[in-house]
Parts: sequence; C-alpha cells; structure tokens
Amino acid sequence: MDHSREFLERLLDVIEKDIAPKTSTAVQEGNKLFGAAVLRKKDLSLICADTNKETEWPLLHGEVSCLRTLNSMPVSEQPPAKDCYFIATHEPCSLCLSAITWSGFDNFYFLFSYSDTKDAFNIPHDLKILKEVFKCDHGSYAHSNAYWTSYDIVKFIDALPNQQDKEALHRRVVGLKEQYNHMSEVYQQHKKEGNRIPLN
Ligand SMILES: [Zn+2]
Repeated sequence: MDHSREFLERLLDVIEKDIAPKTSTAVQEGNKLFGAAVLRKKDLSLICADTNKETEWPLLHGEVSCLRTLNSMPVSEQPPAKDCYFIATHEPCSLCLSAITWSGFDNFYFLFSYSDTKDAFNIPHDLKILKEVFKCDHGSYAHSNAYWTSYDIVKFIDALPNQQDKEALHRRVVGLKEQYNHMSEVYQQHKKEGNRIPLN
C-alpha cells in the first residue's frame, strides 16, 4: 500500500467520523475509549466500525466489538479479511492482536501507541499483560510476522515527503488527541466511581 496523504487522511476521517462518535457515547456508559473499523482495500469504503463495550462483557474491547459487528452482518456484505484494512484507534492489546490474527487480517493500522494508552490515557494493561503473561518487554511484539504487518499511522505521517501535508495531518492528529483526552476524562471519572470491569 502506498501511504499517501489521501490514504492517511481517510484513516483519520474514519476514526473521527465513524469511530469516535460511537466511543463518545459509550464512555458515558463507563466503557473504555478504544474503537476500531474495517475498510475495503479496493476503495477504502467503510464496512463497519464499533467501540469498546466492556460494561456489556469485559472481552468486548474496541477491536473485538468491531469484529463481532462485522460477523453479525449478512455474509454477502462481509468481504474476505484479506481484502480489508483493519483500523484500531489504539495499538491493540494481546487479546485483540490474537482476535485480529484469528479473524484472518493481514494488516492493522493504529493511531495511538501503547505508550499513549499508558501515559496519556492512564490505562497500563496492554504493556503489563504482554510483560507478565508473554514476557514481552516494552510491548515489542513482532510488528511484521507470518500473519500480518502492523502500521503506526503517525510514523507514516512523519514520512510524508511534502512538509505541508505532514503538518496538516499532524494538526488533525493533535485535534483527535484532544478529543480522546476529553473522552479519557469521562472514562476515568467512571473508573473512580467504580465499575465492574476487572482491569479498569
Ligand atoms: Zn484489546
């Protein structure tokens, strides 16, 4: 895939217009701020998007919730995973890395990294589970392996050859970060009030 400005912009559009509005509602109900979407490779059209629903069931992370929504669509509307891009707002945790693998995707793209999740959004479990359960330090899973390659959207923005393109997209990322910071505050407030999510 060529990671052109248009391509990267489309991914940011999907996060802003298709994922974040669902998350904005779900965090009010006590869910975490993670979301995901599936797009067709051929024209970047949206197949589905969804958000974390841990208050319903703690395994309904944003990515798993999105995969469940995909699976609930009529079979004729579900392209093979190999023909799709998987977009995650945040670098997927070990559960979701496995879910993406078992669902047959050969890629995923994410906007916020594990360190953003831990530091900016105050949710440390991704890194901690990888270390404690898998003895994988610093979240250093295999970014490219026999199943898929993972892509950090911000790194591709940094690599854009045109300075104006780079700055324009970075501004959008800053805007999204502000929006997610706000949703994080809503979640953290619910966390303080006490929810039933085991790892909150
Ligand atoms: Zn997850």
